[in-house]
Amino acid sequence: MADEPARQMTPDEFRALGRRMVDWIADYWERVGALPVLSQARPGETADNLPNSVSELFARDASEQGVHAGTERVWDSIFRDLDEIIVPGLTHWQSPNFYAYFPANISGPAVLGELLSAGLGVQGMLWQTSPACTELETRVLDWLAELCRLPSAFLSTSATGGGVIQGTASEAALVAMVAARTRALARTKSGEAGSRVDSPSLCVYASTQAHSSIIKAAMIAGIARGPDDREHVRLIGVDADGAMKPEELASAIREDTQAGRLPIFVCATIGTTGTTAIDPVPEIGQALRGVNYQGWLHIDAAHAGAMAVCPEFSPLFRGLEFADSYCFNPHKWLLTNFDCNCFWTSDRAAIVNALSITPEYLRNAASDAGTVIDYRDWQVPLGRRFRALKLWFVLRHFGLAGLQESIREHVRLAALFQQLVAADAQFEIPVPRTMNLVCFRLKGSGPASDELNRELMTRLNRGGKIFLTHTQLPSSAPGRAGGRIALRMAIGSTQTQERHVRAAWGVIVETARELARP
Ligand code: PLP
Repeated sequence: MADEPARQMTPDEFRALGRRMVDWIADYWERVGALPVLSQARPGETADNLPNSVSELFARDASEQGVHAGTERVWDSIFRDLDEIIVPGLTHWQSPNFYAYFPANISGPAVLGELLSAGLGVQGMLWQTSPACTELETRVLDWLAELCRLPSAFLSTSATGGGVIQGTASEAALVAMVAARTRALARTKSGEAGSRVDSPSLCVYASTQAHSSIIKAAMIAGIARGPDDREHVRLIGVDADGAMKPEELASAIREDTQAGRLPIFVCATIGTTGTTAIDPVPEIGQALRGVNYQGWLHIDAAHAGAMAVCPEFSPLFRGLEFADSYCFNPHKWLLTNFDCNCFWTSDRAAIVNALSITPEYLRNAASDAGTVIDYRDWQVPLGRRFRALKLWFVLRHFGLAGLQESIREHVRLAALFQQLVAADAQFEIPVPRTMNLVCFRLKGSGPASDELNRELMTRLNRGGKIFLTHTQLPSSAPGRAGGRIALRMAIGSTQTQERHVRAAWGVIVETARELARP
């Protein structure tokens, strides 16, 4: 048997096991609300339950010959391990009681799209390697841009723009930053930027509340020397609500330009990670014009961007016409499983100029003719999955009404939670709620109060009934990036309903009471 050729799973076996796996997933979704949200596993526990070596792995199943030992037997053992080893080591992101970080909500249609993508096994690096993979993606991004009322300059049908699916908002920021650098340096060399310095010192700008992926992009791009390099990554101060101060941005750019440095990239955030603050994009755009800024403006709406499907939230997205690029993650709050970041630019040539390299083995007639999009030139890796399928399914299954309903319900539940907190005198809401996140804390000041709030969070999460995380509140004090600690209640799980939110509040109040007992 050992020298038999490896046996493929037959189509019939795949059908049977596929049904079993889909059943397992559906059952998991049904029972996930009853499981402790934050995994209670100790470090090393999952690994300890797994074989130490590959020979032990094979011996345990008596499956040295893999499925030659019997397909059912091997798969029975796999399903048993899922239940006994993997599930206890999971933090349940799809639990209705998950309120940590930002949601990573999913849906049946999206998961089916992911399965289909795996089943088709298409690698869509070039148009030629699957025209449908490229052309569906272009269409889906145009539809989504239309749905979100994005500027027409981002559409693929515009003279210079277009959209693409990146893995994450971090990759989108990196792509935008390297495009910004290439464009700025080309202008500098040609004298267009008014200076002819050959290797100027480059600067990028974001608020103190911007996501760390902006600093990381600058590190990867070789612009920042390290995470604390504030000469090349200028973190701009914020107001009491955590929104970037446009006038501070303008003075930093003016100062750098006068010192002979080259400002190439500004990132504004719609919905900051800590508190969902909204940077004032129109005022930032005007301030940049005021200092004759020639660089790139990227807008990071990783979490909040999903709200743009509802017209009543469009005021949050004002000023996008100033942007060179914009992105949001359907994998956070638009019912589409990870990974799926939608990235649009009004300057696709800048992206391609920065990222295109064509070895002989990738050349083909369609690309050479210049009539097709090769998305490999719009991203960091070469290879890419058929991710547009899951978004296509989500759009078609839910329709506009379904997507809007999901967002509106989460925002309604957050407003309800805010009311519950506001009615309790021992708690405060230190920053305004802008969407589906409520930052709250036990009242008090100083380190002892921060400790008390941390302890409340630790007990809540250890209890397993809910999972939430914390943030350091923005400080508008000059030179201070952060202030007090607050807990974050981010409501966006597919399964979360009003009864879950009310129950969560009950658990929080009860735990706070226990904490106050001597
Ligand atoms: N930008 C913002 C505002 C975020 O909140 C996050 C993650 O929460 C990111 C970027 C990074 O997202 P990703 O994991 O897609 O890189």
